[in-house]
Amino acid sequence: MAASTKHIFITGGVTSSLGKGIIAASLAKLLQSRGISVTIQKFDPYLNIDPGTLNPYEHGECYVTEDGAETDLDLGHYERFLNSTTSQGNNVTTGRIYNNVITKERNGEFLGKTVQVIPHITDEIKNNFYKLGNDGKYDVIITEIGGCVGDIESLPFVEAVRQARWDLGPNNFLVIHLTLIPFLSAAKELKTKPTQHSVKQLLEAGVQPDILVCRTEHHLPVDVKKKIAQFCNVQLNCVIEAMDADSIYDVPLLMKKERLDERVMTKLKITSKTNTELEQWKEFLGKLKNPTMEVDIALIGKYVSLPDAYKSIIESFIHAGTSLECKVNLHLVSSEELNEVNIGKKLELMDGVLVAPGFGVRGLEGKLIATKYARENLIPFFGICLGMQVAVIEFARNVLGKADASSSELEPDCKDPVIFLMEEQKGVKQMGGTMRLGAYPCEMKKGSNAYKAYGKPKITERHRHRYEFNNKYLKEFEEKGMLASGKNPDKGLVEIIELKDHPWFVGTQFHPEYKSTVLNPHPLFVRFIKAVSDNKRNKS
Ligand code: GLN
Repeated sequence: MAASTKHIFITGGVTSSLGKGIIAASLAKLLQSRGISVTIQKFDPYLNIDPGTLNPYEHGECYVTEDGAETDLDLGHYERFLNSTTSQGNNVTTGRIYNNVITKERNGEFLGKTVQVIPHITDEIKNNFYKLGNDGKYDVIITEIGGCVGDIESLPFVEAVRQARWDLGPNNFLVIHLTLIPFLSAAKELKTKPTQHSVKQLLEAGVQPDILVCRTEHHLPVDVKKKIAQFCNVQLNCVIEAMDADSIYDVPLLMKKERLDERVMTKLKITSKTNTELEQWKEFLGKLKNPTMEVDIALIGKYVSLPDAYKSIIESFIHAGTSLECKVNLHLVSSEELNEVNIGKKLELMDGVLVAPGFGVRGLEGKLIATKYARENLIPFFGICLGMQVAVIEFARNVLGKADASSSELEPDCKDPVIFLMEEQKGVKQMGGTMRLGAYPCEMKKGSNAYKAYGKPKITERHRHRYEFNNKYLKEFEEKGMLASGKNPDKGLVEIIELKDHPWFVGTQFHPEYKSTVLNPHPLFVRFIKAVSDNKRNKS
């Protein structure tokens, strides 16, 4: 472990979903603005090796990193806030920890010892806590512990945090506990008891939090803060109020106002190297809050009852829309509700259509119908991964006249598999971590909409799929006006398709949404919104 790296652990209490990821990302942003190099990692207490095998309904989107790791959606927040990349090392689950320990046991590495939760599992957790700090690249590593203190499954993580205090020594270790101060409207009172209890649970595990970040709907009066400080053994100025915010992007500034970064820096004895005052961030917020136009875009998908399933797409629209001073009203539409009869009514007020990524045949028909509607009515269209594959199938069926065209994922016996299993996927039996994952290069055709968006011929984008465009049909598609405007230079895989005679109809086999950040909105989202706003203007 690099002696110079300082560690901050963020735990959560009272309830889940308080936004530890956003607090972690906001603190990291504040430290970054002071010239401190920082990264964030998330430790999740479930037994899956990674969230790649989880249904989006269970855990929201699976976020893919440059190196092809399938990770928790909080890593998306980290990248979007910090404008820097994460990797496999930034997301560790209990499943991975046990897997590592059991593999070592099978290899005889424990030399006949009884392998136990303490010390073997906790040692493995701690090795992973420290790993990203090994090359001395970071001044500070923030570790978010998933779940809630008191959960049985989080116990080994909390125990490892307790031990880390002694490994790391004074001024190198800090615990921030995120908690909730509920407001009882009948009594008109803010209640501190749940926080007291959750801190007691941490204390029982031997961990004294240094700073409490208190989620609340109302300002915390000083007497409430004093009570919390007294019962939870923290200094009064370390009880930080985290009021509900309009946007997650407000949180860094709210935390700065509450001096969270200053408290952290004092406790860890760190000094600022620079202080940029977050000018670009403030500029972004200014534009976000003062749009000069708005557009309505339908996101067609099958996981719409849980918007977290589309987290990165939703945030990409915010980044790109804001750069154009345009508010994007994103309407999540369930593809299962769409049919030939209602499509006109459902999309009547939409200025653009996005067909989302996904797996399996459920909802396919609705996606095809929406795509056809956008194509025929010249409505700007963006298809991502499965959305691009749907655009290909729709074109094959309705323009090339191949009524039985489909994807071999969705209809294995179809006559014209215009989308089919990639060569390297044939024979793959294991489901976890075996898709085509992570960053691959793509070269674009000059003059295409894709080329215009990126403004350069070669890019890399992140992937997560098993199926691909079947190049056997490419000539027929191109003859009728659907072009392969982006291809993988090594294997010739079609990565981007677009229509020649349409204002903006683009599908990407990759996921551009994983690379959009506050300071670097994704060019394809920017161009799509531009086309959508032009479409709106032409209509009125
Ligand atoms: N199910 C498709 C495939 O595996 C698309 C995946 C996706 O949309 N991420 O190729």
